Amino acid sequence: MPEHSDRPAGPAGPGQPARAVYSAGELLALDRAHVWHPYGPMPGRTDPLVVRSASGVRLRLAEETEGRTELIDGMSSWWSAVHGYNHPVLNAAATAQLGRMSHVMFGGLTHEPAVRLAARLVEITPEPLRHVFLCDSGSVSVEVAVKMCLQYWRSLGRPAKRRMLTWRGGYHGDTWQPMSVCDPEGGMHGLWQGVLPEQVFAPAPPADFEESYADGLRELIARHADELAAVIVEPVVQGAGGMRFHSPAYLRVLREACDEHDVLLVFDEIATGFGRTGELFAADHAGVAPDVMCLGKALTGGYLTMAATLCTPRVADGISRGEVPVLAHGPTFMGNPLAAAVACASVDLLLERDWRQEVKRMETGLREGLAPASELPGVREVRVLGGIGVVQLDHQADMAAATRAAVREGVWLRPFRDLVYVMPPYVTGEDDLAAVCRGVVAAAAAG
Ligand SMILES: *Cc1c(COP(=O)(O)O)cnc(C)c1O
Repeated sequence: MPEHSDRPAGPAGPGQPARAVYSAGELLALDRAHVWHPYGPMPGRTDPLVVRSASGVRLRLAEETEGRTELIDGMSSWWSAVHGYNHPVLNAAATAQLGRMSHVMFGGLTHEPAVRLAARLVEITPEPLRHVFLCDSGSVSVEVAVKMCLQYWRSLGRPAKRRMLTWRGGYHGDTWQPMSVCDPEGGMHGLWQGVLPEQVFAPAPPADFEESYADGLRELIARHADELAAVIVEPVVQGAGGMRFHSPAYLRVLREACDEHDVLLVFDEIATGFGRTGELFAADHAGVAPDVMCLGKALTGGYLTMAATLCTPRVADGISRGEVPVLAHGPTFMGNPLAAAVACASVDLLLERDWRQEVKRMETGLREGLAPASELPGVREVRVLGGIGVVQLDHQADMAAATRAAVREGVWLRPFRDLVYVMPPYVTGEDDLAAVCRGVVAAAAAG
């Protein structure tokens, strides 16, 4: 403990060892002084909650907050912790791999965890995705996907095909290329208009299939075909861009139009992958295979950062026929053995369980539990798909008030814009799921 507890908390001086134990108050003071949080100002304006540990579907807080020291997690740490926290199987996989090696460079070396993971991903994703580039994060996997598509056309002698087409309302990450295909207005990157590469945007897809919207997509792809490298979309569910769902039939429209006009098709399944929407991959709702697919988030069960960009032999062969016949990308921590070993264990764990039944059960529970929200004033729509529940308000949520109301119900939520939403771990029991729903309804009422 600090020797001078009346002194404001601060980092250890130069050359001094960092203090081993901080009180929650000291942590928050240091956090405010030094640490950026996602989409946060510096210094931070609202104190985050300090989490000491997590297991199953529960986060344990360092300090009692709104009468709670434990919160049921409704967020799966942003789509990732599908098996819950501190899972014995994933812990064992990490520990076993730690004893062998936590990392070696991937240039000139290879190892079982990465190879096994790649083979497994090829096995479970739509044919003909057959080649796997392992990345450090979802955003990087989208960077790699865009690079693959642009390089493919460059290698084939068509360098003018270097723009991307997407629909509005999307979210693909926070690095440069992904930002350029995020929704240019509602999204979080509006500041960069005029600086980012200018991509081609279709209107946001309607929830139900509309032939006139499909015609619009076909027409836009045809009109820009000469300059389009690829179409990139989140299939079936648009996540952080607005939590909107759309008819899988649009994916077939995109596949056909892309084939007809020599444009590649990229599915960003970073949020939707690994069962979240009720199919193993959202592409499976439509029976459509993309040329390139991005995976991340739930890939390691929420343990470590890792993502993957898969492509077809057509894309890989195209790149290999070019003047520069290599994909010039190679992150330092590419193929990280620790992350890959946990990812293998997480995928096996998912497929061993009756994940389809679990997600179905969650869908039913969310539908029942969130129904009361549609009676609330200020609620525009309640929608549920698979393990995703969304309450859309007719106004911007008061994030602090909504979060506090959920915490009072013993639930962790992170509303944004006009959305109070959840995607709980698949292992959430019936009673806990009902509590999560009460948290959402309370947050929607308060926010
Ligand atoms: C989260 C997300 C990303 C970005 O992944 P990071 O790991 O945060 O970089 C990209 N696309 C989609 C659809 C996502 O949900």
